[in-house]
Parts: sequence; structure tokens; C-alpha cells
Amino acid sequence: MKKCNHDNCCEHDRICVPDTTLPRIVVVGGGFAGLSFVKQLKNMPVQLLLIDKGNHHQFLPLLYQVATSGIEPDSIVFPFRKLLRNYDNLLYRMAEVTRINSGEKQVETNIGRVGYDFLVLATGSTTNFFGNENIAKYGLGLKSVPDALDIRSHLLQNLEKAAISCNHAEKESLSSVVIVGGGPAGVEMAGALAEFKKYVLPKDYPELRSSNMNIYLIEAAAKLLQDMPVKLSAKTLTYLRDMDVDVLLKTRVEEYDGEIVKLHEGNAINASALIWTAGIKGKVPGGLTGEILNRQNRVRVDPTNRLIGFDNVFAIGDVGLMQTKKYPKGHPMVAQVAIQQGRQLAKNLLATIKEKPVRNFEYKDKGSMATIGKKKAVANINKLNIVGFAAWIIWSFVHLMSLVGARNKFLIGLNWMWSYFSYDKGDRVIIRKFEPEQNSH
Ligand SMILES: Cc1cc2nc3c(=O)[nH]c(=O)nc-3n(C[C@H](O)[C@H](O)[C@H](O)COP(=O)(O)OP(=O)(O)OC[C@H]3O[C@@H](n4cnc5c(N)ncnc54)[C@H](O)[C@@H]3O)c2cc1C
Repeated sequence: MKKCNHDNCCEHDRICVPDTTLPRIVVVGGGFAGLSFVKQLKNMPVQLLLIDKGNHHQFLPLLYQVATSGIEPDSIVFPFRKLLRNYDNLLYRMAEVTRINSGEKQVETNIGRVGYDFLVLATGSTTNFFGNENIAKYGLGLKSVPDALDIRSHLLQNLEKAAISCNHAEKESLSSVVIVGGGPAGVEMAGALAEFKKYVLPKDYPELRSSNMNIYLIEAAAKLLQDMPVKLSAKTLTYLRDMDVDVLLKTRVEEYDGEIVKLHEGNAINASALIWTAGIKGKVPGGLTGEILNRQNRVRVDPTNRLIGFDNVFAIGDVGLMQTKKYPKGHPMVAQVAIQQGRQLAKNLLATIKEKPVRNFEYKDKGSMATIGKKKAVANINKLNIVGFAAWIIWSFVHLMSLVGARNKFLIGLNWMWSYFSYDKGDRVIIRKFEPEQNSH
């Protein structure tokens, strides 16, 4: 029998949670959506159980800076127990939810099962390789801190191999990187690598020339940053080309074997690293199948984030698909949607408990932005297009303020200032080696 400090929950297959007369809300996932939901219900008359497979919140928009040796991974994560220690009504359990049993109002996890009155899925999304097994095997996704560390190690290990190679073609292939997907993650990754090539490579790797390192950004559509106005996409393209990134538009990657990237017209690129940012899909625990999931594996929800056909089960953030007149394909999978849905659902559940009317979710789009490099960014805020230094300052401020924890804000701010003045990058270390057969995804 499991040891625990509550008399009434010692069945060996149960998660230990004290009995309560308050409604129990189980929240799966402490990302942007899950955290904003629980914050709204801090010390309210509900029992919150937050379950996450990791013990920390991750700030995904800065993953690319970890992957390109810009910042330390510690500064974009925050442990749940520290973050939530002033909550009287919340318990946190580190566990992976494997199955939802809505008939019995329970979730199953790798540490036992637990019942709920309300269930909130905030499990986010994962890399979508669209069924291409080789790209999934040899390519690198960017959806978590372990993914970013894999990329960092892989790139640095490749450069070490390139430095001792006597074969020009091999040197070039080992130094080169292909990024697939011209969305914000791909664009930011390409820009950061271009700066690495310009400022770090010549100093740290005297055995290599900048011309050895080719950076490709490949996008299937006709423009970068699909959701941005044409003017900003064009400016982004100009920035990247000026920074010596080979941008290939209207180009599809078909295959990858770890060395050769095959493109659909029969062309090929030699590169020992391929970073895949070209697709994401919802991350859904077992027990939900069929019509409730769309092609992107997102769970269909109504305008109040309730799963269609379910009573007390809700999905917020990337994993939920809410189709409305304004967003017939669902809302964009971005942090602001996740945060706003989390807040609105928390208010709605409190209203439901008090038998008051609930409100439909309405997304307040605060705009979008992407940074390409130092003093180079694009932003579309309130229909205003901003480029260059002003956009870069706005991007830096917004990201710094959105980070969780004063220490993290301070560390990142300091790191950025250091890089700004020194043209250097902070964290070029291989802490743990990347072994391709242990690819994180
Ligand atoms: C590289 C990158 C860059 C991005 N840049 C931007 C940007 O600049 N601006 C922007 O607005 N958005 C950006 N996004 C998108 C944004 O990060 C997501 O839209 C946002 O994280 C979605 O929040 P979420 O809470 O739905 O999911 P997440 O933040 O992904 O959180 C999901 C949580 O669920 C947990 N979890 C998953 N499955 C289980 C399970 N079965 N059991 C227990 N726990 C589980 C995970 O551990 C995680 O903590 C970026 C995303 C990436 C990957």
C-alpha cells in the first residue's frame, strides 16, 4: 500500500489527494493555458489538482535561443512547486496523464488514477512530422527544453567534427544546417544561426571558414511568416538574405537520411543537421478518439472550451480547436490564445459552480512579432507595421516581461545586454551529448 498523509486515499492505484466538499478541478498541463487557468482560481473555493509530466513551466518562445547557444536553459523554466507555493487550494503532482475515462470521471496517469468534477486539458502540442519516419528519426523538433538542448549539442558536436575533417565537402556538410518551416520559430532560428556564423564561428573555430557553414530556411508556401502582412514577410526575407541565409520558398522537403536533404523537384542539399519547425499537432492523452479530433489532432471544443459531446471536460490552448466565424480553422496556436482561454474558462467554471451564466470565448488579438537578429525584427500591432530597431525593442520588452520569475527576467536581460555589446553568445557548451538514436521526440 502507498504511504500518504491522508487517511482516505491510500488505495495503491490512486493519486493521493485529500477529500474535499469543494468541486475538484483536475488541470492537465502547466503551460501558458494551464497556468493562466490556475492563477485565476488562486485561493478560490475549488480544489485544484495540477498534473504535469515535467516539474517546471517552460517558456517556449525563447527555445531557439537555448538551441543556438544564446541563453541558458535554466532561465526559461520555472519549477511549479515554487511558483504555486502560495496557493491554499492547489496540489501539484508530477505525472503523465495517459488516459481520460470520462464515463467514470477519472484520469489515469503513470502514478495512479484520480477522479474529477471538472477536467481541463491544457496539454499543448508537439512536433508534427506528417508521418515521415526518416525525418522524424534524423530531424530535430523544437518543442521543449530537451529538444533545444539536443539541437545545441548536435550543432556543436558537428562543428567539432567539421573542425578536424580534412575533406572540404564533409567540412561543409557538417557545418551546414537546414531549417524547415518559415514560421516565427524557423525565422528566429535561422536569424540566430546567421549571427552565430557571423560573430562566433570565425573566433571560436579557426579551423573553419564562414563559407563552410550554409544556413538554409525552407518554406513550402510563397512567403515567410504566413500570418503577417505581406510587407513584413518581405522585410523578413530581405533581412535573412542580407544575413547570408539561403531562403528557399515554394520548396518542399521530401526526405532526410541524416546527411542529404531531398527536395521535391529532385534537388538535394548536404547538411548534417535538419531542424523541423514545419508542423505541430495537438498532444492528446488516450481515451479521446474519432470525430472529437481534427486532422491536426486537436480536440474540438464549443465556444466555452467544453469538449463537444462531453459534460465536464474542457480543452484550452494549443490542444483545443474552437472553430468560430472569425476563426473557421481554429485560433492560432500562440501563447496569447492559451492565456486568454485559461482565464476565461476559469471565470466560466466559477460561474457554473455558482449556477450563473457563462460567456463565450472571444480572442483579443494583441498582434504578432518575430525577431530576426540584433536590431532586426518585425511586428504587427493594432494593424500597425513596425520594423527594425523599434520592433526589436518591443519584441525584447514583451518577451522579457512575459517570462515567469524575476530571476529569469534578470538573467535573460543581462545575457541580452552582454550579447548586444560583445557580439558574443553565452552558452556554447555540450552538457550532455546528443545521440541521434535517443532523439527526444
Ligand atoms: C519554438 C517555439 C516558439 C514559439 N514562439 C512563440 C511566440 O513567439 N509567440 C507566441 O505567442 N507563441 C509562440 N509559440 C507558441 C506557444 O508557445 C504555444 O502556443 C503555447 O505554449 C501553448 O500553450 P499551452 O498551454 O497550450 O501548451 P504548452 O505551453 O505546450 O504546455 C503544455 C504543458 O502540458 C504538459 N503535458 C503535455 N502532455 C501531458 C500529459 N499527457 N500529462 C501531463 N502533462 C502533459 C507539458 O509538459 C507542458 O507543460 C512558440 C512555440 C514554440 C514551440
